[in-house]
Amino acid sequence: MLDTGVLFRYGFDDARAGHWKTRSFEAELCRKLRAGHCHVCSSGTAALNIAMAACGIGAGDEVIVPTFTFIATIEGVLQAGAVPVFADIDETLCMDPESVKGRITDRTRAVVPVHMCGSMARIDEIVAVCAGAGLVLIEDTAQAIGATFHDRALGTFGDMGCYSFDPVKTITCGEGGAVVTDDRDLYHRAEQYADHGHDHVGADRGAEGHPILGTNHRISELGAAVGLAQLRKLDGIIETQRRNKARLRDAFASRSEVTFRMIPDPAGDSATFLSVFAPDEHTARDWTSALADAGVPGCFYWYDNNWHYPRKWDHLKEMRTPGKSPLMLLDPPPDLSTMDIERSDRIMSRTISMLVKLSWTDGELEDIQDRIWTALEG
Ligand SMILES: *Cc1c(COP(=O)(O)O)cnc(C)c1O
Repeated sequence: MLDTGVLFRYGFDDARAGHWKTRSFEAELCRKLRAGHCHVCSSGTAALNIAMAACGIGAGDEVIVPTFTFIATIEGVLQAGAVPVFADIDETLCMDPESVKGRITDRTRAVVPVHMCGSMARIDEIVAVCAGAGLVLIEDTAQAIGATFHDRALGTFGDMGCYSFDPVKTITCGEGGAVVTDDRDLYHRAEQYADHGHDHVGADRGAEGHPILGTNHRISELGAAVGLAQLRKLDGIIETQRRNKARLRDAFASRSEVTFRMIPDPAGDSATFLSVFAPDEHTARDWTSALADAGVPGCFYWYDNNWHYPRKWDHLKEMRTPGKSPLMLLDPPPDLSTMDIERSDRIMSRTISMLVKLSWTDGELEDIQDRIWTALEG
């Protein structure tokens, strides 16, 4: 590809000498995830924006999202001009299907569960809730590529699934994302929207039709080439993560007060994180400090974190958008400053997560296990 000089995913058919990195990445993602169609794009956030657009989510629609996620999920809703409505999480650390039911109104159009930290929501139950209420289901699978529920890839349960390949995800291409769907029409709307509405019919880009307005969420061929190479390492990455996670789990299990995150199908866990619950907030804070003092790397106490939980999302609560948000034209405008998320607070305030690294040697893992034992003994 570098030799041809064609770094663009569309066109230049002769000059590219048969190298179609983005297309190949899409085809291999389809095969890996057993999805009908895939469109690779510039980021996971772009993927969410594309999925919302393709599914027809727009101004004033309500979209149910979980409290524990990365802010990008909410940004995807806001970019559509839609209103994020928060559902509580349960012990899966993902959206609670019961809570979703309680948040449905006559304005609800879609539900966006997030498979957080490498593992799954109770996705079968969420599918049933959406089917029962006639709602669009978009899975945010940015953190869980390679994870499955009963042997089926996360991201393939809903109308569309979204993935991210940013530098902290399981596989990366610097910046990148993807949407998958089994629905041909949704796929075409997605690939058109992501490229200024081009219909991608024929071999003359200049002569293509534009059935819809869109934007530019294209990935570069350079990024796609890296993504393709990374995807081929996915199985090995997950195998290593699972092995390393089991060692961490053993160390935490030495303390009887520790309970573990609920994983609806443990065999499908991609094992990027180990998450544990302390009996109460006070103990969780004590353990977090003790783990840090003992030199245990990569522990997160999300409840205090300003990336992944609404408690510190002041920019969202105050709707600090650079220009006027379409939401402010609603009558009345939604009030995001107060949320009824007490149940999520009770879970998050007891949760500690630990990052599972790929590069740990056996000796390093033994050392980390020792440090965890020391920290939790205290
Ligand atoms: C990373 C992430 C995104 C956004 O992906 P980018 O590629 O960084 O834009 C969306 N949702 C979740 C849950 C994420 O973790």
